[in-house]
Amino acid sequence: MNHDVIVLGAGLAGLVAARDLAAGGADVLVVEARDRVGGRVEQAALPDGRLVQLGGEVVGRAHTAYTALAEELGLTLVPSYVAEPGDLVRATAEGISAGDPPHWFGPGDDACHEKVTAAFSALAGGVDPDDPWGHPDARALDRLSVGDWLRGQGATPAVVRLWEIGQLALADGSYERTSSLAALRKHAAVPGPGHYDYEAWEGLRVAEGSATVALRMAAELDGRVRTGAPVEAVAVRRPGGCTVRLAGGETLTAGAVVSALPVGPLRSVAVTGVTDERLASLHRQRHALAAKFTAAYDRPFWRDRGLSGLSECEGIVGSTWPQSDGILSALVPPERYGVLLGIPGPSRTDELLADIARLYGEEAHRPLATYLRLWGTDPWTQGYVTQWTPGDVMAVGPRHGTHEPPFYVCGSDQWVAGYMEGAVRTGRAAAEEALRRG
Ligand SMILES: Cc1cc2nc3c(=O)[nH]c(=O)nc-3n(C[C@H](O)[C@H](O)[C@H](O)COP(=O)(O)OP(=O)(O)OC[C@H]3O[C@@H](n4cnc5c(N)ncnc54)[C@H](O)[C@@H]3O)c2cc1C
Repeated sequence: MNHDVIVLGAGLAGLVAARDLAAGGADVLVVEARDRVGGRVEQAALPDGRLVQLGGEVVGRAHTAYTALAEELGLTLVPSYVAEPGDLVRATAEGISAGDPPHWFGPGDDACHEKVTAAFSALAGGVDPDDPWGHPDARALDRLSVGDWLRGQGATPAVVRLWEIGQLALADGSYERTSSLAALRKHAAVPGPGHYDYEAWEGLRVAEGSATVALRMAAELDGRVRTGAPVEAVAVRRPGGCTVRLAGGETLTAGAVVSALPVGPLRSVAVTGVTDERLASLHRQRHALAAKFTAAYDRPFWRDRGLSGLSECEGIVGSTWPQSDGILSALVPPERYGVLLGIPGPSRTDELLADIARLYGEEAHRPLATYLRLWGTDPWTQGYVTQWTPGDVMAVGPRHGTHEPPFYVCGSDQWVAGYMEGAVRTGRAAAEEALRRG
């Protein structure tokens, strides 16, 4: 059967693109490799009914495309962990401290931190998130790691360490291997007083569960989502006449194709009929490899110590935060992912819980349930979020996030910095463009 549009991948981007295409009157089919929808949003239910988020979880007030979609779907946005009372904890090999300043700060470090943060915000003000390539110093800034930029601004080692622990807490990959232009572009997309405004990026969550956003869209698309259908090849022909070959050999046809695949799995799909430049740009993108660990307890015991559950750490765990009552999320950043894989499987949970116990006490060793999702080595994700190492912004180039009709691209990797906002924004934009071109 011939479709108007075939959407590859049933993550947030693919589902929202398909939903908008269907609403615009298109006959659309979504093909998804896994036996579930949602991609990097996934949830499990505890016996007591609490939902546990194993992937994407929080959004912020600056995430207007996502929050608008959640409202359209009848879902409720509530404050996230950012509103939790209590101090943030920072843990390094030599110590643990709650609140500011961190335990490794000495005289002058606070003032230095303020100075470089202000310089970073001012520089970001000159970067257009939609056209970072147009910045007069684009190439030089792209080549420069954030670590080198900080040192060039006179940042002390203690200040560089504070920026680094915060970056690893987000699991985006070390600032020593992050393009300054990419970091400035991200800041320019959501400006704020600090170099990462938690409220703007992470202050909200969907009360019914982050993965419920995907499940609701899939329910609306009833019968138009095929799971267990990995795509192996796409041939794009103008006008119309695109073919999509699934594993097993079945071939589907459509007038247009929307790829909503993460950049890693997309590299394994044979795509023909689009320019070499388009493919080279897509194939040049990379991901930070990370894992998410979640421990569910009967109560948020970290509050007993006046702590919020939010932490930034230099252990195997890079950060923790409270997901909802008694449920603690943790990220293992790319720099520690190899260390995690090196731990024999049966010991991983205990070692991760030991990191958490160092922060919040012995009760951490007694969870009701734990979940470890190795997103970095999951065949259908091959990562976590998009990562921009020095030189990547220029190498990917202005084709980032653009279409070659009838081949459209979307997905969080096609926005400045990943995130669920990126998936929804680019998914909706791809559908709008495909509908506009008929
Ligand atoms: C642990 C973790 C925590 C995160 N936390 C947050 C957060 O708190 N806030 C936030 O905003 N973002 C967060 N993110 C990022 C966010 O979840 C993702 O950026 C977003 O969900 C990606 O959506 P997507 O549709 O672009 O891609 P995906 O969700 O990856 O969807 C792509 C789909 O394509 C499918 N696929 C892959 N290959 C094929 C193939 N060959 N054929 C067919 N289908 C294929 C996949 O199975 C998948 O379903 C997190 C991500 C992870 C992994």
